Amino acid sequence: SRYFTLRDYPKGTPSRELFELRSLELPGLDDGEVRIRNTWLSVDPYMRGRMSGVKTYVAPFELDAPLEGAAIGEVIESRHAHFKAGDKVRHMAGWRDIAQLKGDVLEPLPDMQIPEQAFLGVLGMPGMTAWTGLNRIANLREGDNVLVSAASGAVGSLAVQLAKARGGTVVGIAGAADKLEWLEQHDIRAVSYKGKDARQLSADLKEACPEGFDVYYENVGGDCLEAALNNLKVGARIAICGFISSYNEEAPAQGPSNLANLLVQRARMQGFIIFDHWTEYPHFLEEVGPRVAQGEIDYEETIEEGLECTPDAFLKLFEGANRGKMLVRL
Ligand code: NDP
Repeated sequence: SRYFTLRDYPKGTPSRELFELRSLELPGLDDGEVRIRNTWLSVDPYMRGRMSGVKTYVAPFELDAPLEGAAIGEVIESRHAHFKAGDKVRHMAGWRDIAQLKGDVLEPLPDMQIPEQAFLGVLGMPGMTAWTGLNRIANLREGDNVLVSAASGAVGSLAVQLAKARGGTVVGIAGAADKLEWLEQHDIRAVSYKGKDARQLSADLKEACPEGFDVYYENVGGDCLEAALNNLKVGARIAICGFISSYNEEAPAQGPSNLANLLVQRARMQGFIIFDHWTEYPHFLEEVGPRVAQGEIDYEETIEEGLECTPDAFLKLFEGANRGKMLVRL
């Protein structure tokens, strides 16, 4: 098996040299174990938090041990009653080509006539996060005006489409021109944050949706949050999903200067961690799966080729080099 380890906990933006590719001869299977050839690896922003060496809501990655993350693969050998060679499974032993695990931690892939890697993106953890943030945290209602930051990413691109289907005005904040174009093609009003301070961004959001927003789906933090707080309707709900703009910051991020707008607009802001909501995953799949299968929901993927590229794919998330879900194909 070839796998990546972390040599040290990074300060600021991680450098490529911190990731080390190693190899190991796997022992024969024990009773109950399964060997899997990974076909797709997921890289996700939350992994940066696991590289800080501090326990947050998950334990930090251990130095010099195989890194972890969501992956999809094919069973090549099994000593577990529920799995046989050829089965497609999802598990958390990513960042490597061959995984050897207890069968009990494997999830069989649902049979939905959808490309398997979708279960790492639009129908996996990021998709589930978009659905939960809108429906369970922000209590999305028919006709709500919704603002989403990092709107063309794995989470954001589903959030804007789910919100759009509820009939209100949907505005997406994104970086690059091709991302803004993708949003416009889906009837989402697109606003770039590049080269703007919170005041300018706030003015542009006002122009995109003069009535203001009932819901803000937050993926970025910093100036995006400040600008959003200037454009809330009375009774707005803010789902705090992530603050990617600060994950590589060495000093704690400064809070927005206009938090008082929560009071003025009688708004509510709530953070959430998707793992607390995982029991609802079957419900999400039942609702969103068929819409993906029928092509009603569009999902983009940015694919890097080969295990060696995994750290690069991960680092590109912080440069905005992905549209939709960032994946590594093995
Ligand atoms: P994305 O696919 O959205 O990829 C990250 C995107 O973030 C980039 O493409 C880039 O888009 C944008 N970005 C990166 N750095 C900055 C920056 N400094 N300022 C503004 N935008 C930036 O990732 P995911 O969809 O997987 O994750 C989106 C958010 O959701 C993250 O904050 C993540 O931590 C969070 N999350 C939270 C979960 C939870 O349980 N609460 C679960 C899953 C994800 P652009 O070109 O537009 O800048």
